[in-house]
Amino acid sequence: MKTELPEDFLETHEGRAANRILRSCVHCGFCNATCPTYQLLGDELDGPRGRIYLIKQVLEGETPGRKTQQHLDRCLTCRNCESTCPSGVHYGELLNIGRSIVNKKVKRPLKQRLLHLGLRKLFLSKATFSTLLKAGQTLRPLLPGTLKKSIPQPQQPPAFIPRMHEHKVLLVAGCVQPALQPAIDTAAKIVFDKLNIECLEPTATSCCGALSHHLNAEEEALAIMRANIDRWLPLVEKHKIQAITMTASGCGVAIRDYAQLLASDPGYADRAKTVSELYKDPAEIVSEALRADRSLYKQLKKDNAETIAFHPPCTLQHGMQLKRVVEPILENCGFNLKSIKDSHLCCGSAGTYSITQKTLSQQLLRNKLDNIGQAEPAIIATANIGCQLHLQSGTDTPVRHWLELLC
Ligand code: SF4
Ligand code: SF4
Repeated sequence: MKTELPEDFLETHEGRAANRILRSCVHCGFCNATCPTYQLLGDELDGPRGRIYLIKQVLEGETPGRKTQQHLDRCLTCRNCESTCPSGVHYGELLNIGRSIVNKKVKRPLKQRLLHLGLRKLFLSKATFSTLLKAGQTLRPLLPGTLKKSIPQPQQPPAFIPRMHEHKVLLVAGCVQPALQPAIDTAAKIVFDKLNIECLEPTATSCCGALSHHLNAEEEALAIMRANIDRWLPLVEKHKIQAITMTASGCGVAIRDYAQLLASDPGYADRAKTVSELYKDPAEIVSEALRADRSLYKQLKKDNAETIAFHPPCTLQHGMQLKRVVEPILENCGFNLKSIKDSHLCCGSAGTYSITQKTLSQQLLRNKLDNIGQAEPAIIATANIGCQLHLQSGTDTPVRHWLELLC
């Protein structure tokens, strides 16, 4: 695609990246075929090709308005379009650049600004979030159906006594998951321990930065990312840690993006790159350990394992391009894995999308659960807390993190 970006913008890191990405797009439109919002709305500007065009216009100097902002807001950032694109267009990176500029130029309505602020305050304050969650869990029996299902019941993590191993990973807990589903990280520790991998944890936990990034608080997101880098890298060096990991793929993809998001920060660019390169999803760690020593499968194998359907989060299959990594692990551990129709499509969770774009999110949830329902699984497994709670809000079939099934 031909571009005419202003000279001063082309001198910046973002300008050069945007120019390179725009020029790699040949405008073929193949990506529209797998874009969930294009499928639902049928509007060119709610598909990747249209959004790329909107961003190009803004970067070339056109003044954006609320309509442009809304088309970009409706994007799930699922990056399904990147998986489909034959030209390797880095849509996610371009969207980050475009959204940041549009959000600086277009003021959101007061109601939306207050919602975004409220969500950031709620999710980034552990004390407030835990207090409200506990109150919700106490009142849960009295709540109507859908609301009741969106509040998970209190969870007791399984017992685990840590052992030391030479192979060490840094397991980062994140912001809301420890309060919502504390058993997931314990399951990771148990599974890693069975594979002779030790988990070390940072003393202070914090958000990965994705929440603020999703809610357009760019400076806040970057400050969180810098603080995490300052906290994690000394631990990596001190304990000779081989990988950084998180059990939520939504957070993992954000850490993989630290390098890109901090590329123009001279104080952090190199260290952000190191952190992004050190990041591994638990599926990669487990799969590598099992590949290196197949006898370890017997530590994880289940007798009478149940029929399950695995929902691969977009952040796993498109964001990190980890396709069919979890599935063979589960199959080789004895689970009867059912395939699901349109497993490449988003479930509608997408960070805070289920709150900020409720109608589209609910349509995607219904479609996803209809497709999963056809497989009649006893359990739905997934790899991201956001998808897990979103799916659970619409079904009575238990939805669990895949690591919990192996411990
Ligand atoms: S992003 Fe890729 S698939 Fe979509 S229009 Fe551009 S080149 Fe074609
Ligand atoms: S990221 Fe997802 S919703 Fe956004 S344009 Fe790409 S496919 Fe469509």
